[in-house]
Amino acid sequence: MSTPAMKTHKCTECEQLEGKRKQAEQDRDYSSVSECNVLIARYGITHSVRS
Ligand SMILES: [Zn+2]
Repeated sequence: MSTPAMKTHKCTECEQLEGKRKQAEQDRDYSSVSECNVLIARYGITHSVRS
């Protein structure tokens, strides 16, 4: 798996993004999967900046 830096935080936004990525994986929609990976990574960064 290519999931870089998400370990601690879990908010609804993150879970929605992860759910969306899982759905895309099931649909074999790999462009959406990588898009979700980017969104998740970006969103994770905003978390760590905030705290
Ligand atoms: Zn979050």
